[in-house]
Amino acid sequence: MHTTLVRLLFITSAFHCSALAAQSDFDVVIANGRIMDPSTGTDRIANLGVRDGRIAAISTEVLVGTKTIDATGKVVAPGFIDTHFHGTLPIHYRMALRMGVTTAMDLEFGASGKRIDEWYAQREGSSLINFGTSVSHELARASVLDGVDAIDTSEAYKSRPQPNWSRAVPTAQQHEALLAIARQGLNSGAIGIGSTLGYMPGVSADELFAVQSLSAEFGRQISVHLRHTPGNDTDEITGAQEVLANAAALGAPAMINHFNNRGWRTVHQLIRGMQNNGHNVWGEIYPYHAGATTINAVFFEPRNWVDRLGNRYENTLLDPSTNEFLTQANYLQLRESDPTRVVIVFKSPEEEVVEWLGLEGISIASDGLPDLQPVPIDTDLASLPNAHPRATGTYAKALRMARENNLSLMAVLKQTSYTTAQHFEAAGLSAMAQRGRLTEGAVADIVVFDPERVTDNSTFRKGTLPASGFAAVLVSGELMLENDRVLLEKVGNGPLPGKAIRY
Ligand SMILES: [Zn+2]
Repeated sequence: MHTTLVRLLFITSAFHCSALAAQSDFDVVIANGRIMDPSTGTDRIANLGVRDGRIAAISTEVLVGTKTIDATGKVVAPGFIDTHFHGTLPIHYRMALRMGVTTAMDLEFGASGKRIDEWYAQREGSSLINFGTSVSHELARASVLDGVDAIDTSEAYKSRPQPNWSRAVPTAQQHEALLAIARQGLNSGAIGIGSTLGYMPGVSADELFAVQSLSAEFGRQISVHLRHTPGNDTDEITGAQEVLANAAALGAPAMINHFNNRGWRTVHQLIRGMQNNGHNVWGEIYPYHAGATTINAVFFEPRNWVDRLGNRYENTLLDPSTNEFLTQANYLQLRESDPTRVVIVFKSPEEEVVEWLGLEGISIASDGLPDLQPVPIDTDLASLPNAHPRATGTYAKALRMARENNLSLMAVLKQTSYTTAQHFEAAGLSAMAQRGRLTEGAVADIVVFDPERVTDNSTFRKGTLPASGFAAVLVSGELMLENDRVLLEKVGNGPLPGKAIRY
């Protein structure tokens, strides 16, 4: 009887398989995983079939593919979408891929409006993951006020030490010239405007309004590092109110960058209130109590950092290259000798980090700022100069913290993909209407991870250690990472699957 049953099962399943193999032919099948789709709330065990770069089937039926990934015990989710990743070199995209990111965009600093076509052309067919950029308000100012044409963060060492981009107040003619550069970038398809407003005290409220008006004219978002951030709970909140009031008046999309600072609870209420009133605005957080930026940032000046905000350098500014905190004397000396040196800035109580995970209407973005020196794509990540751990850890840390704190994994997965896709879809960016979700017909940007094991490994002392616990990452249906290993053998072997995210 037992033998008969086994034979019967064997015959049935063999018949089933051959029948399906004849009619369905998937390039990749992700079998038996826990499908978690934040766009519909679907959370079930099923098989997912990929064909021609798209999700072609999600089914409890057996699916047969050229390649099958066994996802038993694993979560299958939309690839993570990072709107705030300052690394734009091939090795940086490899870092992002290691933590499940399938789309990395620098929407805060952005790229020169004069060079958007060039920026995208450089990555076309040669990127591990999807890429995108905004047009840079800062670089438009650097171009007009300092005469420097840096392309993006990789050339910020040229623009940031210049005297005028930050503090100068443009003449009427210069004002028009910088808007013309931004317009050129938007005409070239840039994803809205990125403004590092908090670094530029020379930007008046009038100038910001003019820049937001331009983004409104194109129906695209502005992504803003708020005036005075990091500041106190008055600065942070009024900084958000400025951007949000402009957005409301103009009917334009807007995103508040990394509002994981003082006053965040009220900023979140402002954003939610506007969302509930139909405005396409949102915010980002990164799950760390410290940030990182260049040492010459205006907000670190003693009269602001010490006198006004009451901070001390000795327990807030860490130099990652020495792993030592700075004194005021070190700070003043380094600001002159090495103005674009990156420092880590401790600014929030660590216990608040968990409260940012799962926040409704808010996305997770890394603000990853790895060392920007160009190095070969296959360089050992652990050997790179130390940097803030968020560039290699953000998404894995969010997943680990969700596990350790019994948070809703679905709420966190919404923050890592769908929330972002939803806001860009509403702003008419068609590439995002097809991403950030696991539904039939969507682009197959997919991450498969072990929910019990996924973790960040990077720390403030060793910030470049890659994350682990990722079984697979697919970009446009092509397997690019397997068992925590980026498939670098695909580099230089035909076009890579990363796509331009662009208007
Ligand atoms: Zn920022």
